Order: sequence, then structure tokens, then C-alpha cells
Amino acid sequence: MPTYDFTRRTRRQSDPDVIVVGAGLAGLAAARALTGHGLVVQVLEATDRIGGRTATRELDGFRLDDGSHLLNTAYPELRRRLDLDRLDLRPLAPGVLVHSGGRRHRTGDPQLTAARQAAARAPLGNPLDKARLGSWLSRLAATPVTRLQARPETTAARALTDRGLAPRTVDGFLRPLLTALLSDPALGTSSRVADLVLRSYARGRLCLPAGGIAAVPAQLAAALPAGTVRTGVRVTSIAADGVETAGHGRIGAQAVVVATDARSAADLLPGLRLPDFHPVTTFYHAADRSPIGEPVLLLDGDRPHGNPPLVSHSLVLSELHPSYAPAGQALIATTVLGRRAFDAGGPAALEGAVRGRLTELYGTSAEGWQFLSVRHVPDAVPVMPPPHNNRRPVRLLAGLYVCGDHRDTSSVQGALVSGRRVAQAVLRDLGLPATAREAEAAA
Ligand SMILES: Cc1cc2nc3c(=O)[nH]c(=O)nc-3n(C[C@H](O)[C@H](O)[C@H](O)COP(=O)(O)OP(=O)(O)OC[C@H]3O[C@@H](n4cnc5c(N)ncnc54)[C@H](O)[C@@H]3O)c2cc1C
Repeated sequence: MPTYDFTRRTRRQSDPDVIVVGAGLAGLAAARALTGHGLVVQVLEATDRIGGRTATRELDGFRLDDGSHLLNTAYPELRRRLDLDRLDLRPLAPGVLVHSGGRRHRTGDPQLTAARQAAARAPLGNPLDKARLGSWLSRLAATPVTRLQARPETTAARALTDRGLAPRTVDGFLRPLLTALLSDPALGTSSRVADLVLRSYARGRLCLPAGGIAAVPAQLAAALPAGTVRTGVRVTSIAADGVETAGHGRIGAQAVVVATDARSAADLLPGLRLPDFHPVTTFYHAADRSPIGEPVLLLDGDRPHGNPPLVSHSLVLSELHPSYAPAGQALIATTVLGRRAFDAGGPAALEGAVRGRLTELYGTSAEGWQFLSVRHVPDAVPVMPPPHNNRRPVRLLAGLYVCGDHRDTSSVQGALVSGRRVAQAVLRDLGLPATAREAEAAA
């Protein structure tokens, strides 16, 4: 059982100023802010690679994210911390395609013009509903965050019915979109978090780096001084002035930042709140040609017997960038949400049912597609029921800190913000105040 104690021991000259435990986005963002102030930081990562949950691997020329991710160009912290041009973000087609009642309709693009409507290949549903939705999204985009956060807080599911939108719009767009963006089929997430997510959707574009989601941590790590990150070093216990590792002895420091996933953080810091999680299962298929011809998010809007559908959403990644698949092939990523009792066959046993649904969703047979891989992540996304505090304290005591998506919102944006907040707390305690600009950004 990991432990922590508060006895300060002598530091060796070779010890860093700050140890960051975990090289996910939060840990890398924290390390970057701290090294930017001249501190010597050591990031200790248990696995043999950086990025944590944001990983990408190659399989026979296909580029597979370790669970399908979606970014948004309007995530403020993504814009602040990363060079988006160098990240080569590839936007999805504006709006989404929702499959419902055997038809697909295009919706959810605030800028959808009459000309584009005419050019769109899918039926568009009721024009009045679409006009109302367009103006609702535009108003949401312009609403200050402070005003959204002052709204009464309930679950996203309940709030959806209170917004004065047509039930067709709620069921045919908002519910499947939020399900996909929050990885939450029951929509038990805080309505304030849902509002923030929808606001980003209305202000920006869903996107992914051309090089896969791993390009995000890679860019953060590339800006760190050489030798800052040490992979293959598992921290087994935490003290106020250093850590014990498995196989690499004790390393001392003036401050220790636990930047692990929530479960590992609760192991290292007994008493820390352990949230529940939304599992995410991603199926990857290869096809001889793209079933849709554009990088559009395809949402399953059907609710069999009032239940969430098996498939949440699907996207042809090779339409975003050709490097996702070998020449002449298409790569399709499909997400299944919710806790499932897998039988002995594990998540792969669902593949037949997923393939059958993909045939209906894309309106073209998926029979000949090649099943490449499935990735099931049980602890993918910490749940955020109401009341949700998206600024949980990151300072436990002077010298001991915690960050990660579980301290903010369960997202790339939240992980990056928590990394910045923790760095500011460390800097304050070490008497190195953040610049006025950083302090303002943290507010
Ligand atoms: C399948 C999936 C889909 C997702 N989709 C989206 C999406 O579309 N949009 C979005 O914004 N977010 C999405 N997320 C969430 C997003 O990936 C996370 O919120 C974010 O990556 C969390 O970063 P983190 O740094 O807080 O934690 P992590 O990425 O979990 O990093 C923690 C690191 O700590 C290391 N570690 C743990 N214990 C130790 C130890 N004892 N010693 C040393 N190192 C240790 C781990 O190996 C890991 O590298 C998704 C997540 C998953 C899994």
C-alpha cells in the first residue's frame, strides 16, 4: 500500500527542484510552466511512453488513437499552451450527421447557409427547427462563461428538456452530440459542464491533429529541457520532500506534484476523492473505400426502447488526413459507451453487432470491412455529476500537490488547466510568483 509522510529529509545536489509524477497532459503542462520559470523538474512516468490517455499507435500502416478522441479549436487552454499550426489540426466537417429512424440528417452547424443546405447530400429535417437551433447555438457561443456557470445546476439530461428547444432538436441533435462529447450515455453530467462543452462546440470546430492525438503531449514534451522526462519509473510512495520509486530508489525535491490518473492518485494519496468513471470502447475498421467521403461526425440518434444506442458515434479518420490509413484504404473509428458486462470474448465479442449497426448508420454494407482492433478503457473519463467543482484544490500542503483531469473537467482542456493551476501553486509556495498574465489566465 503506498504511503506518504511529512518528514523532511536532506536533498542531494542531483535532486530536482520539483518532481512531477506522471507524463500525461496535466503533468507535461505543469512541467512546462515550471521549467519556464527556471526550475529543474523531473517528470517520472511509470510506463515506457508519455501522453497517458492521449496515445497513438501504428498498426499495419493505420494510425490508431488509444481510444478515439475529439478536440475543439475553441478549447481555451489548447490555444494557450500549444502551437495549433504546428499541431496541424484537421477540422471535422461543420455540424454533424445524425442517424435517426432510418434516415440521416445534417444539423448543428450555426453557419449552415441555404447554399450549403442545398449542396448537402443528406436530408436536413425541419428548416424552422434548424433556424431556431442555429440562433440558439449562436447565442450560446456569445454567452460569457461566468453567466453559464451561474445557471442553476442539474444533470445535462434534465437541463436539455428545460431549454425551450423542440423535442426533435433535443433528441435529434443535442442528446446524441452531448453523449458523444461527454462519453456519458445517461447524461448524468453536470449541466454546467454540458453548457461549457456546447459553448465550445458552438464557437469552434471539432478537430484532431493530423498525426493523431499523441501529437498533443509530444509537442508539450518537446518544449521541455532534455532529460526532464524519465519513462519507466513508477512512483510507489510520496513524501512532502520526495518520492520512492520501484527500482530507482528515492528522489528528493522541494515539491512533489502528483499528476497521475485519478485512481493512481488516490492510491498514492490515501483520502483523496476517487470518482467513478465512464468507460469508452473504440472499434477500428478498415475499408477499401470511405463509406461517406467526408470527415463528418456520425451520431446514432436512435434510442431503442428509450435506451442509449450501442454505437454512440463514428468517424472516418482517413477523411481527416490520409496518413491515418495506408494508400487506398479508409480507417473508421467507432465509439461504444457505457459499462458493459463483456463475456469471455471481451469487448471484441461486440464487433459483429457494431459492424451490423455501422451498415445501417453509413447506409452501405460494412460486411467486407476488416476488423483491425478494439480498445476498451474502463477508467477513460472521470464522471462529473452535479454539483461539479471544475476548480478542485490542487495544493494539498506546502510541497505536496495534485493535478489531472479529475481536478478540473474530465477532458484534454481540463487536464491542461489543472497542470497550469498546479504550477502556479508550486511557484507561489517557492516564492516565484507567476507573471500577471499567467495569473489572469488562471482565474
Ligand atoms: C478513450 C478515451 C477517449 C477520450 N476522449 C476525449 C475527447 O474526445 N476529448 C477530450 O477532451 N478528452 C477525452 N478523453 C479524456 C482525456 O484523454 C483525459 O482527460 C486526459 O488525457 C487526462 O490527462 P491527465 O494528464 O490528467 O491523465 P493521464 O493521461 O491519465 O496521465 C497520467 C499519467 O500518470 C502515469 N502514472 C500513473 N501512476 C503512476 C505512478 N505511480 N508513477 C509514475 N507515473 C504514473 C500514467 O502512466 C499516465 O501516463 C478521453 C479519454 C479516453 C481514455
